[in-house]
Amino acid sequence: MDSTRRTFLTAASASAGQGMAQSPDREHEHQSVPSDAALRVRALESLLVEKGLIEPAALDLLVDRFEHKVGPRNGARVVARAWVDPAYKQRLLVDAPSAIAELGFTSGQGEHTLAVENNPKVHNLVVCTLCSCYPWTVLGLPPIWYKSAAYRSRAVIDPRGVLREFGTKIDEDVEVRVWDSTAELRYIVIPERPAGTENMSEEELAALVTRDAMVGVSRMPSPGAKV
Ligand code: FE
Repeated sequence: MDSTRRTFLTAASASAGQGMAQSPDREHEHQSVPSDAALRVRALESLLVEKGLIEPAALDLLVDRFEHKVGPRNGARVVARAWVDPAYKQRLLVDAPSAIAELGFTSGQGEHTLAVENNPKVHNLVVCTLCSCYPWTVLGLPPIWYKSAAYRSRAVIDPRGVLREFGTKIDEDVEVRVWDSTAELRYIVIPERPAGTENMSEEELAALVTRDAMVGVSRMPSPGAKV
């Protein structure tokens, strides 16, 4: 097993049993959680290899793809294109998988994705109450807090409270729509384009878009807040 795979398995073990992390510091605190999940993954992998059902090299390729080639920067490029190209945004809203594929982003775990657009009267929030379904094609692997029982249950019971904990205050006259992802249908939020970005290029806009804004737990930061 190479170091990349070991890193992946270490990360898998760290994510097991974690609660709803509130900050990077808290996530860091939990890195010493017992490695039950990692052990299960290793046992499963070695059995499958032993039975000739999988190739370790193929697994490494798959892991490398999701660690380095698929991630929220893809989603950010989709959002930026939607902001600068109304016709593209319309295609994205009508048929997200095809519009996303136009930019060259295709992979599993995202074949059926719906794009939902924030506006001054509606804020969209995405959760998977059952497990951790997430649009891998555009957002990569889900963050630890997205998989936590606390987020999964509270996002539907008290979405405004959860949003406040992420530092996102939604005015009372703005409707919060919560979208419950499934293995069949996943969601990406198109955040509102921030004021003051009128003269930015598509690339500059993409650099502004955050993962959390595309899940809906955050609003877009103003350009000045981003380095
Ligand atoms: Fe799920």
